[in-house]
Amino acid sequence: MKILVLNCGSSSLKYQLFDMNGEVVLAKGLVERIGIAGSRVKHSKGADSVARETDIPDHTAAIKIVLDLLTGPETGVLKNLDEITAVGHRIVHGGEKNDKSALVTDSVIKDIEDCISLAPLHNPANLMGIRAMQKALPGVPGVAVFDTAFHQTMPPKAFIYGIPYEYYEKDKVRRYAFHGTSHAFVSARAAEILGKSVESLRIITCHLGNGSSLAAVDCGKSVDCSLGMGTTPGILMGTRCGDVDASVILYLAEKEKDLGKVSDILHKQSGLLGVSGISSDLRDIEEAADKGNERAKLANEILYTTIRKYIAAYAAVMSGVDAIVFTAGIGENSDRTRKGAVEGLEFMGVKLDDSKNNGFRGKEAIISAADSKVKILVVPTNEELMIARDTRKLAG
Ligand code: ADP
Repeated sequence: MKILVLNCGSSSLKYQLFDMNGEVVLAKGLVERIGIAGSRVKHSKGADSVARETDIPDHTAAIKIVLDLLTGPETGVLKNLDEITAVGHRIVHGGEKNDKSALVTDSVIKDIEDCISLAPLHNPANLMGIRAMQKALPGVPGVAVFDTAFHQTMPPKAFIYGIPYEYYEKDKVRRYAFHGTSHAFVSARAAEILGKSVESLRIITCHLGNGSSLAAVDCGKSVDCSLGMGTTPGILMGTRCGDVDASVILYLAEKEKDLGKVSDILHKQSGLLGVSGISSDLRDIEEAADKGNERAKLANEILYTTIRKYIAAYAAVMSGVDAIVFTAGIGENSDRTRKGAVEGLEFMGVKLDDSKNNGFRGKEAIISAADSKVKILVVPTNEELMIARDTRKLAG
């Protein structure tokens, strides 16, 4: 069974073709600058890769290029397109209705449309991917895998904001949270590594990338997450602000007199970039901090402190914690962030083994000390594989 996984952004498209017999990636790639001058595609099959610049006016054209590459004489891994059994789509927002992945039907498409106001940048792009695929491969089932679905198990006390309740009832203002596919994948995998069932564990998953979130996963179910109705709250991110109080936002709105500008500040000019004034990329911040740059050091300190606060908070939410899992670009690669995030938490049974953590990157490992009550793990995330598995389950 071969499954194509698509992740469509407004001007980009990432894809991976899986052979589910052995869960092997046969080919993968990235189309960038769709509809913008300088469109390009990078495609790889095993160790071989090709990159091309070509005119790609829209997602339909992008998908045609991808399908041609997958079947082409040099670049291809398929004899013909009939070999594709199903297509898995990453969908950012499924709202309250979609608490699990779903076969793409007219009613699911309507649900995704209904959530456009909640994810105005992502859901329209995700829909373009679905429609372009339906045109290119009619009759091949599609499966929608929602970033919000895993968090639909959060109880009201975690998702209701302390504002008048009618905004929830009438406008659906609430915490939805994101990165659900990643939190689900790494919590399940961490349980496997520990040789326990996920239903027996209280896990805090730390997805630390350009966008970051922590989740409290109690017995396999998300019960809280640091992202909210939108993608700015929680810990300090690459360019997003993390938790700031409402007065700051009201002050910015009053001063700038332009809500678009305020949104731009909070989403694109804040976080590591805003505090350091250097970069949104943690590697640059770490390098600058090593050279003595005080604002880079401060950005690191805020990052560590905000993660540590959420770890302690989520342990309180679950009346304890059995494992802490680090994943995504920063979680998988930055030993000093992992150390900073758990430093001082020995009082709650969290003890890192420096010799296992230092210099460790990009693979699965348990990095806590042998006598740590709480296990600390690094688990590389694999959202595409999770999407492919759900697609096999529903379309198989
Ligand atoms: P996205 O949310 O865009 O998928 P990623 O999960 O790829 O992001 O994470 C990107 C972040 O990971 C960047 O801040 C980058 O600096 C950081 N990162 C990647 N490799 C390293 C490394 N070796 N050391 C420190 N940070 C790293």
